[in-house]
Amino acid sequence: LKSVGFKTVSIIDPKFKFEDLGVGGLDQELADIFRKAFASRRFPPAVLQKYGIKHAKGLLLYGPPGCGKTLIAKKLAGVLNSVKPKIVNGPSILSEFIGKAEENIRNLFADARKDEIEKGDSSPLHVIIFDEMDAICRKRGSSSSTSAEVGDKIVNQLLTMIDGPESLNNILVIGMTNMKELIDPAILRAGRFEYHVEIGLPDDKGRLDILKIHTATMFKNGTIDPNINLEEIVRDTKNYTGADIEQLVKVALSYSIGKMQDLMDFSKPIDPKNLPLVTMEDFKKAIQEVKPLFGVDEQFQV
Ligand code: ATP
Repeated sequence: LKSVGFKTVSIIDPKFKFEDLGVGGLDQELADIFRKAFASRRFPPAVLQKYGIKHAKGLLLYGPPGCGKTLIAKKLAGVLNSVKPKIVNGPSILSEFIGKAEENIRNLFADARKDEIEKGDSSPLHVIIFDEMDAICRKRGSSSSTSAEVGDKIVNQLLTMIDGPESLNNILVIGMTNMKELIDPAILRAGRFEYHVEIGLPDDKGRLDILKIHTATMFKNGTIDPNINLEEIVRDTKNYTGADIEQLVKVALSYSIGKMQDLMDFSKPIDPKNLPLVTMEDFKKAIQEVKPLFGVDEQFQV
């Protein structure tokens, strides 16, 4: 690109590899998100103009809790040489004071606006992550209550920032929700949160990947039985989310530590050369204790 005289703005970490993200079982979703929302940012603005398109500015991740939406948003934002992403909990934007919620939204974008004015095309990317997006972007006009009116104003303000006359080019807004159906359709239209990616419950391979991620340090340091049967754990953890599996590993570890003879003898220091190994038995006990958030009959099952 240098040879054709364009200024290149490198915003992807050159050492980036999907495998290093620590996100398990979502290869397809990651590739999809990357292609739709991030890949165009590898192109300098002058090159992108040759296609006559603009960067995606809004991405919606939806699905059950604990399956990796926040993890993906944070990790991908970290890969880009972006300004540290702002993570906002939807309801925290709301305010009982008239006009304050809209002001909160405008303030969120203030740094991006300043950079765009001062640096133009060389501005770094600003990633803004909205957790519980449904709380602030409910379908409009669905009720005549004051809170519904406040909701309408917030939606309008957000749309103005993403797609209005003063909209910014150096932003990527990632919305997250467990209840996509509650979100105002105006927000989901092209040019706004145009890409929607479902982050669902992991299947068998996904759970194996996630289990490997959360036990990797133990395998590396020899603090887990190397012959442990991860496939068997996967079979016994149907409907577990990524967060459930992370919890399972913690509880298994607690059972392993609990077996140490001198644990309750506070006069004896822990000997780092004599640590207990996490075993299948510890995992079996943990499986009895950590139950999946979603039962077999529920909405989000795989
Ligand atoms: P919520 O809707 O409640 O905000 P979420 O989908 O954003 O949930 P995360 O906060 O990303 O869920 O997941 C919680 C934790 O569970 C993560 O920090 C991570 O440790 C673990 N986890 C969840 N999914 C995965 C995954 N696919 N791979 C590895 N770890 C995972």
